[in-house]
Amino acid sequence: MNPFSTLGIRHDIVNAITDLGFETPTPIQEQAIPVLLSGSNDFVGLAQTGTGKTAAFGLPLLELLDFNQNHPQALVLCPTRELCLQITKDINNYAKNIKNANVVAVYGGASIMDQLRAIRKGVQIVVATPGRMLDILNRKAIDFSEVRFVVLDEADEMLNMGFQEDIDSILSTTPEDKKTWLFSATMPMEVRRIAKKYMTDPHELTMGTKNTGNVNIDHEYYVVRARDKYAAFKRIVDFNPEIFGIVFCRTKIETQEIAEALIKDGYNADSLHGDLSQQQRDKVMKRYRERSLQLLIATDVAARGIDVNDVTHVINYSLPDEIENYTHRSGRTARAGKTGVSIAIINSKELGKIRQIERVIGKQFTKAEIPNGFDVCEKQLFALVHKVHNVEVNEEQIEQYIPRIMDEFKDLSKEDIIKRFASLEFNRFLEYYQNAPDLNAGDERGFERTGDRFPRNGGKSEYTRLFMNLGSVDDFTRGDMLGFICSQGKISGKAVGKIDLKGVYTFFEVENAVADQVQQAFKSVDYQGRKVRIELAGDRGMESSGGNRGERSFGGGGSFRGDRRSGGDRRDSGGGFRDFSGKRREDRSGGDRKKKW
Ligand code: AMP
Repeated sequence: MNPFSTLGIRHDIVNAITDLGFETPTPIQEQAIPVLLSGSNDFVGLAQTGTGKTAAFGLPLLELLDFNQNHPQALVLCPTRELCLQITKDINNYAKNIKNANVVAVYGGASIMDQLRAIRKGVQIVVATPGRMLDILNRKAIDFSEVRFVVLDEADEMLNMGFQEDIDSILSTTPEDKKTWLFSATMPMEVRRIAKKYMTDPHELTMGTKNTGNVNIDHEYYVVRARDKYAAFKRIVDFNPEIFGIVFCRTKIETQEIAEALIKDGYNADSLHGDLSQQQRDKVMKRYRERSLQLLIATDVAARGIDVNDVTHVINYSLPDEIENYTHRSGRTARAGKTGVSIAIINSKELGKIRQIERVIGKQFTKAEIPNGFDVCEKQLFALVHKVHNVEVNEEQIEQYIPRIMDEFKDLSKEDIIKRFASLEFNRFLEYYQNAPDLNAGDERGFERTGDRFPRNGGKSEYTRLFMNLGSVDDFTRGDMLGFICSQGKISGKAVGKIDLKGVYTFFEVENAVADQVQQAFKSVDYQGRKVRIELAGDRGMESSGGNRGERSFGGGGSFRGDRRSGGDRRDSGGGFRDFSGKRREDRSGGDRKKKW
């Protein structure tokens, strides 16, 4: 017997949810369904999103309502439009074998006329956000006098968003003897208070210990210096080539800025925040759901109710102001029994906040280290190898090219070919990361440590870092660049430190004593008709976003780039880097292509 039948769910509904892949009830379903099916209790369920709570209340509703009657019998209130649409869709799916079942979604930002029309046609279950619901009630366009069940979903979120008064007004139009079922991820005092206000002797169910986050989520934090935060974030992303993540920022502006910097740096990212129109938000969400976006950069408010499965990482680029929000953020990963990682990138002053969050979620964070450049390269290399190994080959289409391809490769051994394929992506990462600094902030006393495999120049800098507007796309190798700096800057090679050659520009270090001289000397230098520009790089990280200098650093995990990017609408970092492959370097090592300036 299907375990859902054992819980008391009837055959046609069980069939519908079996089609959705629900084979065994989740813990909350197992415990809540029998209680709710009795229809005689108020109910409080402390459960995260992603635990299967929609079915936990949705299935009993379908059992308890009379679908021969076409008036509102159940009202589900939830905080956001996204969640409202999701719940409506879910209940419709469960109800697909029930004749005459009508579920209507009522939410802001869409035509009220369409919603009024749907209501007039007859409805048993209304799923609504409070603002629009109240609007419709004020128009006297719906009658809740026969509502038997009210579900308050994500009650803590609704309170956070200031819906308390709206909820009061809405509930005052429903009968005294209706049953109220409240679900909340957390149980702050305010939620306790509304539970007390609206319910009598509710049956309480807590999944896990109170206020505990989902056990399938690993919580990690990284301590970095404030100025390295963006670089550290990118490195975490690069270290996780298959990342499908939501990145939380504190403000709309920060969200927009991070998304723009990422896009500029060639990552497959976009932002979701309140300044976007509903249409723009829908578009972003659609792309994210379809996985044509890899990183969604969002504010707390905009990301509420997002229900996307298989989110691998939640990244707290900034910690939330309200500790409670951390639970909501991290709950976007590890849904439906999957595992996930919730990452916080903090500075050492924020450690106290991590400890506070630990107390709230009842779980400890692991302190993690920002991976060094070598580790990132290795990770990317094997992700590529894995991808090549598993790629689906379209035999029919490729067939016609095989003879020519074989011919091109005829002088190469299998090993040589493999090396070359691997190098296509790997070289770009090596190039980028070979001098990558250690981004982990020192211990709490603020010491800076050096990376183990790519050490910086001793602790104190005797070097000045300069920026030059020429890079690998101008056909420079690092060796070429060293020669160029020495000959044009009129200094010896010994005075030059690290050279970080990028696509369209280069960072390089020279001894402090000669820094002015080099800048002066370059004032009169042209390169192929272009004025060579040298600037103090200040404390810009070697990996900083590049901003208006048009840095074209790569990023965004090999596997998503190229094949999953959204294409035309964004600047592609590909060109310069992709062309700058191992092959070109080998050409140079042939010897006779000495640069002339
Ligand atoms: P929810 O907490 O209701 O947002 O559910 C999270 C996800 O788990 C949704 O994608 C559901 O479709 C899925 N889900 C819920 N219950 C089950 C179940 N018993 N078996 C498999 N998946 C489920």
